[in-house]
Amino acid sequence: MGVSQIAIAANSLICSRLALGVWRLAEWQMQPRERVAFIETALELGITTIDHADIYGNYTCEGLFGDALALKPGLRDQMQLITKCDIKLVSANRPEHTIKHYDTSQAHIVASVENSLNQLRTDRVDLLLLHRPDPLMDADETAEALMDLKQAGKILHVGVSNFQPSQFDLLASRLNFPIVTNQVEFSVTHLTPLYDGTFDQCQRLRIAPMAWSPLGGGDLFQSDSPSAKRLRSALQTIGEQLGNATIDQVALAWILRHPANIIPVLGTGKRDRLQSAAAAAQLQLSREQWFYILAASTGAPVP
Ligand code: NAP
Repeated sequence: MGVSQIAIAANSLICSRLALGVWRLAEWQMQPRERVAFIETALELGITTIDHADIYGNYTCEGLFGDALALKPGLRDQMQLITKCDIKLVSANRPEHTIKHYDTSQAHIVASVENSLNQLRTDRVDLLLLHRPDPLMDADETAEALMDLKQAGKILHVGVSNFQPSQFDLLASRLNFPIVTNQVEFSVTHLTPLYDGTFDQCQRLRIAPMAWSPLGGGDLFQSDSPSAKRLRSALQTIGEQLGNATIDQVALAWILRHPANIIPVLGTGKRDRLQSAAAAAQLQLSREQWFYILAASTGAPVP
């Protein structure tokens, strides 16, 4: 059975229950045809939502992905493309940047989206995220840029990433349409959005958040910290109870169990790991199993 789909907000974008992030695409060393095959594997599994940012791979990943789409243009309409803007990196590919900073000015947002469309070889992105909250964001100006881009059909939906609820509310107060997601770091190794109001806000607004680094960016498998060791052991125990599910599958099922309908954004470049993740979407953790893993993460049962 393929990965299911979900409307991330009422009457809004339909996304797959698991998304594929391509932050590491440039590291995967794939030839264009291998990239096409990898994208096709994701789509066949029902993983149709693809997460980009302008800056990924030092501003190269959107272009690498666009090259693959150019080989098989029919793939574009089978997926939802997310990209992001507002981080400016110091990079040989952007020699005009003198310090890493954020830019939510109208001029930068519009220029960044135009560039993303060119790189991705598409006429619209399904969802644009502001990548990081900008302390100098002028909410009126930023909202105007986003509303103009949406009006022009260049972006179909708007979301945010790494926003606190108050920052989300500020931007939302200036837009004439709803913000449809907040993409935040969340996993068994990173619990903050459970407690800082982020997921409460998403549930209140009935929007599905997205979880980046859903496997701790790989730390879950590599780290020798006491917490990572406890987690591996706990995930293995629960995996055995679920009929020999692997620890990555249980870690994803733990995210999927949350009632806010969190969408894990997978970071793997391996086809077999995509398959394993897709199977994880079928696992159902009990409440007790979920809390067992939470306790392994924090090192103590809940108070
Ligand atoms: P992740 O899934 O937590 O980590 C992926 C890493 O873990 C890869 O190096 C992968 O290596 C490794 N891995 C996966 N399964 C494994 C396994 N079973 N055993 C050993 N290693 C395993 O996700 P992420 O890459 O950190 O982030 C995912 C996506 O989130 C990114 O691509 C990006 O789209 C998004 N993101 C967003 C933000 C933001 O600010 N909005 C920030 C960071 C990331 P292999 O490739 O070898 O499998």
